[in-house]
Amino acid sequence: MTSTTSNINAKTYEASAARQVAFVGLGVMGYPMAGHLARAGHQVTVYNRTAAKSIAWCAEFAGASASKHALTPRLAAHQADVVFCCVGNDDDLAQVTLGADGAFAGMQPGAVLVDHTTASASVARELSTAAKNLGLRFVDAPVSGGQAGAQNGLLTVMCGGDQAAFDLAQPVAMAFSRAFTLLGESGAGQLAKMVNQICIAGLVQGLSEAIAFGQQAGLDMNQVLDVIGKGAAQSWQLDNRGKTMVANKFDFGFAVDWMRKDLGLVLDEAKRNGARLPVTALVDQFYADVQHMGGQRWDTSSLIKRLR
Ligand code: NAP
Repeated sequence: MTSTTSNINAKTYEASAARQVAFVGLGVMGYPMAGHLARAGHQVTVYNRTAAKSIAWCAEFAGASASKHALTPRLAAHQADVVFCCVGNDDDLAQVTLGADGAFAGMQPGAVLVDHTTASASVARELSTAAKNLGLRFVDAPVSGGQAGAQNGLLTVMCGGDQAAFDLAQPVAMAFSRAFTLLGESGAGQLAKMVNQICIAGLVQGLSEAIAFGQQAGLDMNQVLDVIGKGAAQSWQLDNRGKTMVANKFDFGFAVDWMRKDLGLVLDEAKRNGARLPVTALVDQFYADVQHMGGQRWDTSSLIKRLR
């Protein structure tokens, strides 16, 4: 991520009343998401553990609205109607929400925390209960669409929580969303994201085997992908990653380390609910192989490297 040039792209924002909002976690995803909130006219207070990113964000976006940065999640959340959050995992999420300097300690009664971290359904339920006990609201809201989706303001967001909390968050969150949909009670957003990752894991392995097979057979795989991409084998992964896999390029966003974190959440949940996921479990181990090959930060299409 560069901090000196804009990494968000032009977007037409739907009219929404300007709100006081906070954003906790200015990573690859959070930085551009918070940028869209500022561009849409909301007054954004940001917090990032590494303060240099907050300072860079303010230099880039504070001119778009009366935005600023704060030294703790609690201070960032203090006057916000909606507090957005996008950190790494369950433990990070607990650190920025709970405790004396956590966001919950600063929020006003009735305010909503919308969490975009990919985390477990159980932590979503725990935080929802903790929020209710404090007179606050919580929506679990993991995203799909990757870094490009965040930069373009076109994320697909899967939400769990109650209707009142969702209704407060949705008009504001459309600044960075293509779709922002309530799928059930607390935890339902995280469970839907797990469904998404199960789909992707099996599909990327299938695409890897197909491309490796075609190359082994001496076919022009760019041409083959053009042809089969117009038939029943078409997929987002084939359209967007197929030719980069042929070219042996793996620097396209969602990293293998993140995928292993997500598949860990999926497999834990499957132990609880009894779902059988033989292919997902196998692909998780294939991603472990990729990590051992040095591919922790390669994008998820690097599964094909095991086959070459
Ligand atoms: P990232 O670039 O590594 O950013 C993580 C952010 O969380 C950083 O701002 C980091 O602060 C902060 N953070 C981590 N631990 C923290 C803690 N204990 N206390 C306070 N702040 C903490 O990650 P990302 O790519 O934005 O991903 C964020 C989440 O979105 C993950 O759950 C990921 O699985 C999910 N996601 C990512 C993508 C993608 O394509 N990248 C797509 C869909 C979903 P520092 O700057 O101080 O490190």
